[in-house]
Amino acid sequence: MKHNQWIRVALDVPLAGPFDYRVPESLQAIKGQRVLVPFGRRELVGIVLETIESPSYPEDQVKDILMVFDDLSPLPQDWLDFGLFAASYYHRPVGEVLLPAMPSALRKPGSYTGKLSKGGPVARLDRRKKTAIALAPPEDNTHVLNEEQQEAVDAVLAIKGFKTVLLHGVTGSGKTEVYLHLALDVLTKGKQVLFLVPEINLTPQFEQALLARFQQVVGLDGIAVLHSGLAEGERLKAWVAIQRGQARIVLGTRMAIFAPLQQAGLIIVDEEHDASYKQQEGLRYSARDLAIWRAHQLDIPVVLGSATPSLESWQHANVGRYLKLTLAKRAKTTYMPAIKLVDTKQIKLEQGFAPVVLHAIRERLERGEQSLVFLNRRGYAPVIHCASCGWMSQCPRCSVYTVLHRMPGHGNVLQCHHCGYYGRVPVKCPDCGNQDLEMLGRGTQRVEEYLQAAFPQACVERIDADSTRLKGSARKLFDRVHSGEIDILVGTQMVAKGHDFRKLGLVCVLNADAMLFSSDFRAPEKLFAQLAQVSGRAGRHVAGGEVLIQTAYPEQAVYQALIRHDYDTFANASLEERKITHLPPFSHQVLISAQAKTVNQAMQFLLETRQLLASQPQLSGFQAAINMYDPVPLRIVRVAHVERAQLLVESASRPVLQAFLGHWLPLVQEIGKRHRIRYFTEVDPLEI
Ligand code: ADP
Ligand code: ZN
Ligand code: ZN
Repeated sequence: MKHNQWIRVALDVPLAGPFDYRVPESLQAIKGQRVLVPFGRRELVGIVLETIESPSYPEDQVKDILMVFDDLSPLPQDWLDFGLFAASYYHRPVGEVLLPAMPSALRKPGSYTGKLSKGGPVARLDRRKKTAIALAPPEDNTHVLNEEQQEAVDAVLAIKGFKTVLLHGVTGSGKTEVYLHLALDVLTKGKQVLFLVPEINLTPQFEQALLARFQQVVGLDGIAVLHSGLAEGERLKAWVAIQRGQARIVLGTRMAIFAPLQQAGLIIVDEEHDASYKQQEGLRYSARDLAIWRAHQLDIPVVLGSATPSLESWQHANVGRYLKLTLAKRAKTTYMPAIKLVDTKQIKLEQGFAPVVLHAIRERLERGEQSLVFLNRRGYAPVIHCASCGWMSQCPRCSVYTVLHRMPGHGNVLQCHHCGYYGRVPVKCPDCGNQDLEMLGRGTQRVEEYLQAAFPQACVERIDADSTRLKGSARKLFDRVHSGEIDILVGTQMVAKGHDFRKLGLVCVLNADAMLFSSDFRAPEKLFAQLAQVSGRAGRHVAGGEVLIQTAYPEQAVYQALIRHDYDTFANASLEERKITHLPPFSHQVLISAQAKTVNQAMQFLLETRQLLASQPQLSGFQAAINMYDPVPLRIVRVAHVERAQLLVESASRPVLQAFLGHWLPLVQEIGKRHRIRYFTEVDPLEI
């Protein structure tokens, strides 16, 4: 057999690539294998994308690969194709897609070279003694499906090949039960299930449900969990189990979409509308969108579940491109919580609370039920302020205020939520010397403190990014909510989604209005989804669930739709507006965000890239179909001394937009180099 001399390799470097190498006679490298290669003065692990007839530059300049790793079978062709698609769609080098998807042990040269490597990380993993985790006898939680659930399950099982299903089920309608029934069918056919959830905090709940239901079917090693909170060794173990085909169920957050599945039969995306499916750095991908492409590639169904689908998915369902299945009723209590608006214009608030809200919390407490107080703002107070001269606690590095935090054991600090800056709280006004600095507004810490003082007999706890910083602490807190130990839970969006709290009767929303007047055209959609989600935590198992939303604008359409539980009308009306204004899903967008020392430099760069459309002959054909907005500074223009501006590009046609990007982005890159400017490209941005 002829020796395959030349290969093309994907490397995680910020250059276009892929890169050509020679395979010396002593080695054999095939597609999908990982190889060690010299790159500049470094050695890097790369993935063989293909073997080639001849290299694309002179043979004497092509370097030899150093090692071939055969500790795992080659990555499958469909996985490579998937990465190539994501790279082309998001306009990133393929190496930046494929390598970061893998656990770092598999892509660090150091795991294979040097004294301690001992055959590499996979060999070390296999040598480790397997300790089976004894699971507490799982409570039997299988439900006989109700009629709606059964219809949904039957409809999905009837699908042959690829189809996108939108499972629109109100909160508490038992979507999980539908997923589990579907999964059972797929597993018994010997296929794998990929199950995506938006947040790390939701994985334990689903892992438990999956173990309880399927441990007998797939064994303890049959379930692999992938998310960014895992220790490196855990992530490696999960990956290896998936690539070897041992894992029958893969549960994870957005990164799990890159799992090297071997025989996938079904993909489930729970809470498909959730913005957490969008990666906001590096490769800015949407795991929901990629899930649909992946299902299409594998010719299998993909189920998108939500109580409040994204308007993109809703529109696809409306026109029949997706199969829409509906769960209109709750599974347990059969009715939705009563949502009431508390008009705060009329009343004096007590530490941010309307008296009726405090009264309602007291009543639930007396009945032994839990209350959830939702406030999407962490810290103690959002800003401190001098009433005599107007000084405010401004971050020295960013165009935002620093937030007052109480640090247990460290007193008070001012913290910037954008750059991580910490500062001391001044004892007097730095500008005028006034000693009476005021705290303006309130965050979750202050609300927690007040509630504990107002209800001394109650167990009050807070769940937000601060109270859950330590690994495992979020899980402990959620366990304490589930066990009923916590009476009043104060939380940010972390507590709003997905959780099935059994004793929770009341949800109170404090600062909903903050999102009402945002410049982001998706703000009403996001607000509706967020409030419907958090409302959906109330009364899932107890009768008389109630939601109280404090607002100064009760007449706003989003609130009116919410109290009627009327997602459909809200979504359809929103789509009408989007249609008239040519906004997504009726157009497709790309955002270029530039960062520079001054916002003027960033704007200058963007203006120049914008002018290409008119000035470059090879782009002239796109003029009619591409719309470029004026570049604008970002709302928060400066973060960590860097100033930012953005340029939005839009087209009614996705293929036209993609073709345009193919021509335009290389020119943008040249201008970027000339201006020495940092920028990133985001296809299908969610926040503009
Ligand atoms: P969703 O994800 O749609 O918000 P869940 O899947 O969490 O809702 O289900 C809500 C609750 O209803 C869960 O406690 C679940 O065990 C229960 N449940 C689901 N299906 C049924 C059913 N057919 N009969 C009784 N209870 C059910
Ligand atoms: Zn002052
Ligand atoms: Zn800052």
